[in-house]
Amino acid sequence: MFREMRRYRQRLPENEAIRILEQGSSGVLAVLGDSGYPYAVPLSYVYADHTIYFHCADSGHKLDALRRHEQVCFCVISCDNVVPQEYTTYYRSVIAFGRARELTDTAERHRALRLLACKYHPTDSEEGRTRAIETDDARVCVVAISVEHLTGKEGRELSLRRRKQMSAADTGEAESSHTGVT
Ligand SMILES: Cc1cc2nc3c(=O)[nH]c(=O)nc-3n(C[C@H](O)[C@H](O)[C@H](O)COP(=O)(O)OP(=O)(O)OC[C@H]3O[C@@H](n4cnc5c(N)ncnc54)[C@H](O)[C@@H]3O)c2cc1C
Repeated sequence: MFREMRRYRQRLPENEAIRILEQGSSGVLAVLGDSGYPYAVPLSYVYADHTIYFHCADSGHKLDALRRHEQVCFCVISCDNVVPQEYTTYYRSVIAFGRARELTDTAERHRALRLLACKYHPTDSEEGRTRAIETDDARVCVVAISVEHLTGKEGRELSLRRRKQMSAADTGEAESSHTGVT
């Protein structure tokens, strides 16, 4: 059902795609919006266990859309270096497709809010975090997107560089095993 990447050589290994999701500070959520218009909205989020979590006010355009249609898409860009002299951009990005649901179970909500708190305020004390979670819990909606399909892609130049590095590493390994050097 999900499409293959046409330029498959530019596809990132899954662990790299996951790393981008883990390290990104924001992503863009795409939903089926109003009157046939898609709605793409930037959000802070955290990724854990094949799930993207975010929190938001309990009304608005994106929540109305999610409540009508649970299937969504989420995109994170990790690298966007414009190289004017080459008329190109060195990029890395991931795109996830999945299903969104509002969390109602208190333990699940608190776990997601704790993950968000740890990501965005890693130096806060446990007490500070617990206070923030309890305050938030009373007033926010927490959404979990279970990821069903995830791909990462990098620009052609980064992909060529990666393949060169991999083949140099392979050659190095082959040479060292040939000479008995480890
Ligand atoms: C880096 C970043 C991180 C963010 N993190 C969060 C987060 O974790 N949680 C959260 O709830 N929100 C976050 N926001 C704000 C978010 O983008 C939305 O503005 C907010 O969630 C309200 O969305 P809504 O659909 O309920 O807005 P509504 O007010 O219902 O949207 C109505 C209309 O307002 C316009 N609009 C809404 N948001 C934006 C926007 N960001 N830019 C331009 N036009 C807009 C659109 O035309 C939309 O159709 C973040 C924004 C940025 C840029």
